[in-house]
Amino acid sequence: MSNKQKEVVVIGGGLAGSEAAYYLAKNGIKTTLVEMKPKKFTPAHESENYGELVCSNSLKSNDVYANACGLLKEEMRLLGSMIIEAADETKVPAGAALAVDRDAFSGYITKKLRSCPNLTLQTDEVFEIPEPQKDGDRYVIIATGPLTSDALAQDIREKTGGGLHFYDASAPIVSAESIDYAQAFTGDRYGKGTGDYINCPMTKDEYYAFVDALLQAERADLHAFEKREIFEGCMPVEIMASRGKDTLRFGTLKPVGLFDGDGKRPYAVLQLRKENEAGTAYNLVGFQTNLKFGEQKRVFSMIPALRNAEFLRYGVMHRNTYIQSPDVLNRDFSFKNNRRIFFAGQITGVEGYVESAASGLLAAIRIADEILERPTHVFDDETVCGALQTHISTPNKDFQPMNANFGILAPLPVRIRDKKERYHALAQRALEKIRSEIAKG
Ligand SMILES: Cc1cc2nc3c(=O)[nH]c(=O)nc-3n(C[C@H](O)[C@H](O)[C@H](O)COP(=O)(O)OP(=O)(O)OC[C@H]3O[C@@H](n4cnc5c(N)ncnc54)[C@H](O)[C@@H]3O)c2cc1C
Repeated sequence: MSNKQKEVVVIGGGLAGSEAAYYLAKNGIKTTLVEMKPKKFTPAHESENYGELVCSNSLKSNDVYANACGLLKEEMRLLGSMIIEAADETKVPAGAALAVDRDAFSGYITKKLRSCPNLTLQTDEVFEIPEPQKDGDRYVIIATGPLTSDALAQDIREKTGGGLHFYDASAPIVSAESIDYAQAFTGDRYGKGTGDYINCPMTKDEYYAFVDALLQAERADLHAFEKREIFEGCMPVEIMASRGKDTLRFGTLKPVGLFDGDGKRPYAVLQLRKENEAGTAYNLVGFQTNLKFGEQKRVFSMIPALRNAEFLRYGVMHRNTYIQSPDVLNRDFSFKNNRRIFFAGQITGVEGYVESAASGLLAAIRIADEILERPTHVFDDETVCGALQTHISTPNKDFQPMNANFGILAPLPVRIRDKKERYHALAQRALEKIRSEIAKG
């Protein structure tokens, strides 16, 4: 069978699926996009269009040299992203952010897909992963998103060995260099382990002021369908605090077994755990939270070691179906058990509109490389695209979804102290890498 006869079935016409299907079809590959709307809607979708934004109309920053999500957009523009093209064409004024008119945005995507040769649009709910033969003529991309319908989610759970998460309750991540080490000390509880934790102590006054602020801070809204299952599964730090002023001191912030440089046990301690091998980012242990992002920065910065903290990712709690990607996916988003099956979008453990679309684009590029017998395009950790691929495929028993941020990029060979200059250099390096991959053809 000639390679040109190979076809791809993409399931889910959201951000990742629309991006992937369009890229493949535009490159001459016979593609079918199967979307269940309007026959069936998830609890958050309501438009009949493809590429619907379920919540905010902002695709975050558009600043290529100062923000990793801005940089990711530019990487995607260079790689031929239809989703970013749609956003650029339908944008509304929003300062440094790329916000869109949501109906015009999804309308643009729908029009592009409907008029694309080689692409068949099918309206159906898919109940199980179609089984492409290992060496057969069909590839499959599963891009059914954080609200994948129940029957398919069940099938994915069975075929991926049970590692399917149904909500995302992640703690914030701060950059290592923004921690005030004069206000912190390293070491594990009772001196056990390899001394990897950074401990952020609080005095009695600091602790109670922190708890008061936590209780008064503004929380993000949850959809009715999200409230029950999320809080049953994982308790946000602000809810723990509401159970009593000392609850955190006997739980998440307990100081037992931790002694500062003077050998004293602090009143309360927040522990920070390394988020990546390079040690450029740290996770606030046990601080899953549903506070609004601005409130997280304000309240968590009351902890002395975090007073200048740069938040690479804020904590989120929402309904989110995602697989245990490091166990089941290869770096190129293909399924370890069958390389003809790919996953893309939020279901892989990338987080956010742009990141989801990016993973669809990357999966499609890899499939196109194979079908069209082109040179393989490889994106390393010096690009945001590649760093997200590394995130979803690096062994991690506490795997949590990740958005684009500079902390996941490979550090520069030479340390640049000034943050603005460093980000600029990281962005320049990333775009050069992308251009050199594109030059492969
Ligand atoms: C409630 C909520 C709010 C969010 N808000 C934001 C936000 O404000 N900003 C942000 O950056 N990110 C947000 N996200 C996270 C994420 O960026 C978006 O969910 C994003 O749309 C994910 O893209 P995706 O392509 O993976 O999935 P989606 O865009 O959700 O697309 C999946 C598509 O698959 C279809 N589908 C599902 N099951 C089946 C099936 N069995 N058969 C056929 N089709 C199926 C769905 O109808 C849908 O069209 C939010 C997530 C949720 C759940």
